[in-house]
Amino acid sequence: DDDLVRAVDRILGHADSARRLLVRANADTPEDAARARRFGAQGIGLCRTEHMFLGERRQLVEDLVLADGEEERQAALDALEPLQKSDFIGIFKAMGGDPVTIRLIDPPLHEFLPDLVDLSVKVATSPDVTDKDRRLLAAVKRLHEANPMLGLRGVRLGLVIPGLFAMQVRAIAQAAAEVPGARPEIMIPLVAAVQELESVREEASRILAETGVEALIGTMIEVPRAALTAAQIAEAAQFFSFGTNDLTQMTWGFSRDDVEAAFFSRYLELGIFGVSPFETLDRDGVGRLIRIAVEEGRAARPDLHVGICGEHGGDPDSVHFCHEVGLDYVSCSPFRIPVARLEAGRAALAGIGSDTR
Ligand code: PEP
Ligand code: MG
Repeated sequence: DDDLVRAVDRILGHADSARRLLVRANADTPEDAARARRFGAQGIGLCRTEHMFLGERRQLVEDLVLADGEEERQAALDALEPLQKSDFIGIFKAMGGDPVTIRLIDPPLHEFLPDLVDLSVKVATSPDVTDKDRRLLAAVKRLHEANPMLGLRGVRLGLVIPGLFAMQVRAIAQAAAEVPGARPEIMIPLVAAVQELESVREEASRILAETGVEALIGTMIEVPRAALTAAQIAEAAQFFSFGTNDLTQMTWGFSRDDVEAAFFSRYLELGIFGVSPFETLDRDGVGRLIRIAVEEGRAARPDLHVGICGEHGGDPDSVHFCHEVGLDYVSCSPFRIPVARLEAGRAALAGIGSDTR
C-alpha cells in the first residue's frame, strides 16, 4: 500500500545518501534496463551479449561456425552487425545518460551449437538430412569440449574468430553515435593475461577512433591469474569488474553448473561453509584475490574503476565486503537493487571493518 511504499522509499533514500558504493544493474534487454532504472540503478554494470545470438539468430551463428574462408566469415558477421546495433540502441535509450557496460560475447560454445547426440541421430537416421546438417555435425565434433566452461569461451573465442569482437565493438560504437548522451563501456570476458586484453583493446580502440565514439575499455577479473597479475592487467584496462561466479568456480575448483547438487549439502553439514560460496562471497579465498587485485590494480592505475558483477553483487554480506575493500560499485540483477542500495548504506554507516547486522 502507499504508506508502505513511501516508508521504503524513505529508508532507501537514507541509505542512498549514506552509501559510497554505486549500484548498477545486470541487464541484457531494454526491458530489464528500464526495470533496473525504476529500482534505482545508476547504470548497467553487466550487459551480457550471449543471448543476442540465440533464437532466430542461431542460424547466423551456425553460418559463422561453418564459414569456409574469410569472405564467408565476414558475410556472417555483416549479417549480425545491424542486429547487434539495434540491440545496443535499445539499451542505451533505456539508460539515458547512465553508463552501460557491454560485455563482448562470452559463450560456452555448447550452448550455441546443436546437441552432438541429437544431430548425430538426425544425420544417421533422418531421410531429409541436408548437407548443412552434415557439415554442422563435423563442426560440432571438432569443437566438442569435455569442459566447455574452461574451454573456448570469452576472450579466447574473440582471439580465435577474427572479426567477431570487432563486429560487436563497431555495433556498440554506431549505436552510441545514434543515441545522444550514451555512455558505453566495453568489457572483455575471461581475461587471464594482459596480452589477451592488449590485443583486443588495440583493435577496439582503432574502431572507436574511426567512429569518433568514446568508450572506456576494461576487463572482467574472473580468472585467478587475472587477479594475481592485476598490476599488469591494469596497464591495459580502464576498469575492472569482478566476475565472482567464475572466480568462485576457479578458485575453489567447483563447477558452477554441477556441484550444488553433487555435494554441497554435505559441505554445509560439515560446516566447510555456512552458505554456498556461489551465494555469499568467500572472503578468505575469493575475497583475498579481490583485495590483491584492487590494491595492485589501483597502484598501477590510480583512476582504475572497480566493480563487481557476479551474483554476489546483490547479496547483503557480499555488498558489505565490497564496501570494505573499496570497490566503486556493485552490479546485480534488477530485483536485488533495493537490497544492494540498503546494504551499501548500512555498510557505510557501520564503518569499515565493523559488522552491525
Ligand atoms: C561471473 O562470472 O561472475 C559473471 C558475471 O559472468 P557470467 O556469470 O556471465 O560468467
Ligand atoms: Mg563469468
